[in-house]
Amino acid sequence: MDELKIFIGGQWRCGGGHQMQSLFPADGSANARLHAASLDDLEEAIACAQEAWRAPAWRNSLPHLRARILHKVADLIESRVDELAKMQSRDNGKPLAEARGLVMSAAGTARYFAAACELLEGELPTPRQADLLTLSQYEPLGVVAAITPWNSPIASEMQKVAPAIAAGNAVILKPAEATPLMALELARIFEQAGLPPGLLSVLPGKGSVIGDALARHPKVRKISFTGSTTTGRHLAHVAAEKLIPASLELGGKSPTIVLEDADIELAARGICHGIFSSGGQACIAGSRLFVHEQVYAPLMARLLELTRGLRLGHPFTEGTHVGPLISDQHRQSVLDYVALAKREGGRVLCGGEIPADPALASGSYFQPTIIEGLSNGARVCQEEIFGPVLVAMPFSDEAELIREANRSVYGLAAGIWTRDTARALRLSEQLEVGTVWINTYKTFSISAPFGGFKESGLGREKGIQGLKVWMQQKSIFLATGNSVNHWCD
Ligand code: NAD
Repeated sequence: MDELKIFIGGQWRCGGGHQMQSLFPADGSANARLHAASLDDLEEAIACAQEAWRAPAWRNSLPHLRARILHKVADLIESRVDELAKMQSRDNGKPLAEARGLVMSAAGTARYFAAACELLEGELPTPRQADLLTLSQYEPLGVVAAITPWNSPIASEMQKVAPAIAAGNAVILKPAEATPLMALELARIFEQAGLPPGLLSVLPGKGSVIGDALARHPKVRKISFTGSTTTGRHLAHVAAEKLIPASLELGGKSPTIVLEDADIELAARGICHGIFSSGGQACIAGSRLFVHEQVYAPLMARLLELTRGLRLGHPFTEGTHVGPLISDQHRQSVLDYVALAKREGGRVLCGGEIPADPALASGSYFQPTIIEGLSNGARVCQEEIFGPVLVAMPFSDEAELIREANRSVYGLAAGIWTRDTARALRLSEQLEVGTVWINTYKTFSISAPFGGFKESGLGREKGIQGLKVWMQQKSIFLATGNSVNHWCD
């Protein structure tokens, strides 16, 4: 097996850190071997980045140039969708159909920020004072850090790298330990698209070593992080010490609500997708289900039927709904949560176990699981499991429902299933979450801002302000007359 090179300041070479492996979660086989970045590699990447973003050719580049690079990146991605999707699947076990969706979304993100940087306008604050023209323009921050998790590589990486580059910065990307393949391939694509050397470095390695040193580095002027709330809180402290902006996309425990007038078939299918796609390894997984007691029985019957029909299988097999979890270690933590749910009084209605099928024995597979009989205060309803585990709870009173849906440290997303749009909008306003889906779930648009309330995050990605968060505003005052300042008379 070839040793993968890492991308430091425009050069491909062996990292100076410990040896790491990318493993295929479907069977534990090794995809690639590589050496992590060392602290010296980090220093070099940052020195190159500092030089590259200040180079006049980049600093004074017209948005056209940055847009052209991003469109080329999108073209290159679109010309290799199947190959990149397979690489994504090998990296984290996602079924090919889902991986394809992420690859296409990465291309779309590059195109969106290509357009956004061309359209970005400064401001001319008014009313202006006599004899003064006041301009406010957006400028890049400089060297910025992007730190990403393993669950949706390429898409989550592009969500940071594309706007950071569009805004004129230099980016150091630290991907998750488990998924270095996609991040390194993304670097190759940016290189092929003509991004000048030094503007993107990809430094795989341990979060507590390379990620931490990157965030703390005095030359790094922004931290953009997606990952767990624990790490996010740590990085918020680091950013506060340095007085730099931090944008944090963190964990979730999202409620899905089925009202008494919901279309049961639509709701059951949406809930099933919302929790079990990606094996529940999604920050936005709809993991707490609140169903009005009048429709609890029919909704649960249909949901169980759909869940039992899901095809758990190899990510490369067409038609697989649920692939393996990222690792055996992660699967064990999901299994521990199911055991905890039982101790807390929960009844497992389906799943809850490692599948017995010998064809799945070598991968980190886990059955899609539905539990009932718990109250929302149970630990499995309050802690992020990040696996295919749904807890269902009936409700009868709307005020009580809102209280319970909001009773969580998280506030990432929520779903509402109802035929009453006005009621859905009223409930949406009462939910303390960053995204509400009505009669749909896990649908995205690059133009709609995304981010969390409460401990699910700080700041927003996507949308036009998803570009501005990678910039800082400068106000310029220009005297248009020759009036003498009499202060020192
Ligand atoms: P994680 O916090 O363990 O790791 C995320 C990244 O941070 C990795 O690259 C890791 O190496 C790095 N890291 C770890 N410790 C660090 C430190 N001390 N300093 C700097 N970097 C450090 O999270 P994970 O297990 O990779 O991902 C799963 C989590 O991500 C879940 O909680 C999930 O909800 C969250 N997530 C959130 C979103 C969102 O948009 N809100 C999207 C995807 C995943």
